[in-house]
Amino acid sequence: TTTFDDSIFADRESEVRSYSRGWPTVFTTAKGSWLTDINGRRYLDFFGGAGALNYGHNNPAFKRALIDYLENDGITHGLDMNTVAKGEFLQSFTDRILLPRDLDYKVQFPGPTGTNAVESALKLARKVTGRTSIINFTNAFHGMTLGSLSVTGNSMKRAGAGIPLVHATPMPFDNYFDGVVEDFSWFERVLDDSGSGLNRPAAVIVETVQGEGGVNVARPEWLRALADLCTSRDILLIVDDVQMGCGRTGPFFSFEVAGIQPDIITLSKSIGGYGLPMALTLFKRELDVWEPGEHNGTFRGNNPAFVTAKAAVDTYWSDDTLEKETVAKGELIHQAFAGLCDQYPGISTRGRGMAQGLVFEDADKAGKVCSQAFDNGLLAETAGPSDEVVKLLPPLTTTTEELEQGLEILATATRDAVG
Ligand code: PMP
Repeated sequence: TTTFDDSIFADRESEVRSYSRGWPTVFTTAKGSWLTDINGRRYLDFFGGAGALNYGHNNPAFKRALIDYLENDGITHGLDMNTVAKGEFLQSFTDRILLPRDLDYKVQFPGPTGTNAVESALKLARKVTGRTSIINFTNAFHGMTLGSLSVTGNSMKRAGAGIPLVHATPMPFDNYFDGVVEDFSWFERVLDDSGSGLNRPAAVIVETVQGEGGVNVARPEWLRALADLCTSRDILLIVDDVQMGCGRTGPFFSFEVAGIQPDIITLSKSIGGYGLPMALTLFKRELDVWEPGEHNGTFRGNNPAFVTAKAAVDTYWSDDTLEKETVAKGELIHQAFAGLCDQYPGISTRGRGMAQGLVFEDADKAGKVCSQAFDNGLLAETAGPSDEVVKLLPPLTTTTEELEQGLEILATATRDAVG
């Protein structure tokens, strides 16, 4: 154990911090699916860095690659230079991720984090089409900078910026009306009606499963209908895979479940592999209309992150083992949650792969579950419009035993909150 004066956090760190408030301790080290605090207590991490830790903390293969790189004085800051680390990542990403899926996309390094990928996607769509507005969805989350916040469907989060933001028109996400919206024919009518006041947008931006929005799952047929709408009306389709990409739902890209090919894809969080900042914007070749310098940033293309990102791709995506395990473990979580739903009225569950949510009647109950889980050694966060959903994003490398252990803690906490 370590002696440490934790009053520095309350005294010095802005109130804007959020996750740390729910977990009243100070963490020191982490390995696999476990975090340890200054008192030597261990916690199962089902928060998973909000999706940035799909391969666990301090993954041994990635750590080795990073240490070797640094010991050989590998470049840490290279900006846009051609470096071996960047080239090797691009080669692995091409060979193991893009080509096997028949996806021929150009790769942009838009900045260090998810919101940078979203900003560049929105800018590119506007530049390519010459149009300005964007269609987004109810409960969407795309980031905290002005453009990505404009397409985020959460008034509380938007309030931090003041209004108005960039022009975005929200549409109902799949199941927003309990499954009533089956297709987009109503939207096509509005779009084609010059009296509707709706301008043709540059792009539609969508998550296949809304993470922050409360683990809202879009059906494959809904995604296909959306992709068809975009094709028929010449609107670009952006899939924001920042949280659900890198295998979270099973396949590397979450949209693979629908067999669609978005025009633009955003990736971040787990793409760096080791919890290091990294973001990618992918787009179809013909959309590469960027001029040099039109979207830059000092910390884009982080070389140590290229090293761990390559290690992640090489270690986990040379075959479909991880995908199959993720689907099986997702089913295990789903079964456990479905069991709780049978036992206690007023709760429900939804999710895909290892992104699973347990939906409570209100934030109070969901919050109680998370705080009791913390007391019993498990980290999980809440999501959804009023924080009424307990959202699980455990590392995909979490063992079945660890999953069962964590689910047991959640079952007890649920019983105490609603039983
Ligand atoms: N898009 C999605 C779908 C996200 O879940 C997030 C982060 N939760 C972002 C974008 C923004 O990423 P970042 O926080 O790295 O800017």
